[in-house]
Order: sequence, then structure tokens, then C-alpha cells
Amino acid sequence: MKTATQKIIDLLKDADSYYSPDEIARLLGIDRHMVIKALDHINFAIRRKGMRLEILPQRCKKCGYVFEPSTHVASKCPRCHSQWLEPPRFRIRVMKKH
Ligand SMILES: [Zn+2]
Repeated sequence: MKTATQKIIDLLKDADSYYSPDEIARLLGIDRHMVIKALDHINFAIRRKGMRLEILPQRCKKCGYVFEPSTHVASKCPRCHSQWLEPPRFRIRVMKKH
């Protein structure tokens, strides 16, 4: 049986599009908080396997503020305090094949 981390890597690896934590949670049937925790781990763990987590950062839909690319998911915009946020999206790029 695959771990949540392994399932997420399989889904995001060389994916055609980027996925938000909610989409990953829905597609894989994993709790959203587990997904976010796993992404944080994946971000570091896959580097030595020649892969990189690509992050489309969170963005505020009200004022347009763009967050730092991160696996941390904020619930409020630091500039205008709106909670109307575009979620971060993720995909894994394979830098070199083994
Ligand atoms: Zn804002």
C-alpha cells in the first residue's frame, strides 16, 4: 500500500497542470491537512531524487497580492486581510532521470 506522500508524488510528477491542495485531497481521498503536511515534506525529500516541487504561489483575489512560493497555505492576505485567496498550486518536475 502506498503512503499519502507517495500517492501525491505520483500524481504531481510530470503533471500537465498544477494542483491545489484541495484538488489533491479530492483526487486522492486524503485529508487536506495531510496533503499540506505531505507537500512540505515532499518539497525537501524529492530534491535528492532529482525532482523539484514547482509552486504557483497563493494570490489575493481582492488586491492582487502575490505570496512567497511556499507549501504553507495562508488563510488571509497580509496586505488587505481578505480571505478571498487563490490557492497555491503544485507540480513536480523531474530534473534528471535515473
Ligand atoms: Zn489582498
